[in-house]
Amino acid sequence: MHHFEYKNGQFHCEDVPLSKIAEEVGTPFYCYSHATLHRHFTVFDKAFEKVPHTICFAVKANSNLAVLRLFAKEGGGADVVSGGELFRALKAGVPADKIVYAGVGKTKEEIRQALDVGILMFNVESSQELLAIDTVAAKMGVKAPIALRINPAVDPKTHPYISTGLKTSKFGISYDSAMDEYRHAVSMENIEVVGVHKHIGSQITLVSPFVDALEKTLDVVKNLEEEGIGIRYIDIGGGLGIPYKDEAPPHPKELADNIIPMLEKTGLHIIFEPGRVIAGNAGALVTRVLYTKENEEKIFFIVDAGMNDLVRPSLYDSYQHVAPVEESVGLRRKISSDVVGPICESGDFLARDRVLPEFKPGDLMAVMSAGAYGFTMSSNYNSRPRVPEVLVKDDSYDVIRDRENYDDLVKGERIPSYLK
Ligand SMILES: *Cc1c(COP(=O)(O)O)cnc(C)c1O
Repeated sequence: MHHFEYKNGQFHCEDVPLSKIAEEVGTPFYCYSHATLHRHFTVFDKAFEKVPHTICFAVKANSNLAVLRLFAKEGGGADVVSGGELFRALKAGVPADKIVYAGVGKTKEEIRQALDVGILMFNVESSQELLAIDTVAAKMGVKAPIALRINPAVDPKTHPYISTGLKTSKFGISYDSAMDEYRHAVSMENIEVVGVHKHIGSQITLVSPFVDALEKTLDVVKNLEEEGIGIRYIDIGGGLGIPYKDEAPPHPKELADNIIPMLEKTGLHIIFEPGRVIAGNAGALVTRVLYTKENEEKIFFIVDAGMNDLVRPSLYDSYQHVAPVEESVGLRRKISSDVVGPICESGDFLARDRVLPEFKPGDLMAVMSAGAYGFTMSSNYNSRPRVPEVLVKDDSYDVIRDRENYDDLVKGERIPSYLK
């Protein structure tokens, strides 16, 4: 459920017409609904109320400070995958002891940063990384809390680029070598083993991969117990999918009904790392049609947002629903069309081979389900300033990130003296 709907012929985010924001802020822009973000967080939280848990929002899905702050105020933590994300989470007011840190390529400097502020735990992805954490912790005279990220070799049945728990994935430590690595970890002077972690992929629309992966993870927990290696946390990652089109992913409650019985038995504190399921359908990218162009096959709607602003359609060939902001536009004749951006690449499209109403230059379009992996994956390609982000609450809105300007584009660049 989300809070984007037509009222009086105009597409609204909560009680604000998107056309009003477009007029005042310009296009394109990302628009998020406070009520939807809040609701999705709460629904997830409630679904798992039977087990002691912390929801560590996956910062890479939407890393705006205001959005992170919103979840922090709900008692949430953060799942970070870089020093930059750690910086953001802390700046947004997420308590350090609710931050978990995954990622296959943590640098020593990033490890030092995380130890310095006292994060909840590192989710360690390799034996060399474990060694690096031990070394850095020793230098600082502290003990580093860690979980090992177990790769359970379970197919999440999603897009290959976002499958992370396959045998062939770069992520995690193989299930078979998990115990050896744990024995190694407990022998290290400056490592404190506190948990087990797994995360098998994103946009998962079935319950079974979660159950299968959790079973294997719980095997590891049992083996740890048998060897007297005490832990406090099971971090089961994120990955729950959302309906972009006609997918029917499990409701958090359904996932909870299936896995709570398994989790309850452990008596451990559960960490969740949802990203997409919380933020995805809480946001839209609003763009304006600049031109239309017709050939024998179809019509192109050339809009002012491109693949640099929203890369999911190009990168994953993914579907994002397109809605006219003016409801009456939806009544126009429907034609086979592509929605394309201004970028000099044929892969620059927001929608391809769609049957859409005949948009005209000047019409506004909302590209839906853009609240996760939208702005965060945007770039300056073609020297396009990144677009603003707006957060709507009830009948008002705030610009929570300014539109970049041309000076932002060249910030930090300089011409060597021999070229002057
Ligand atoms: C990306 C990621 C997540 C979030 O995935 P979603 O599909 O957005 O829920 C959680 N944990 C880790 C380690 C990740 O890399």
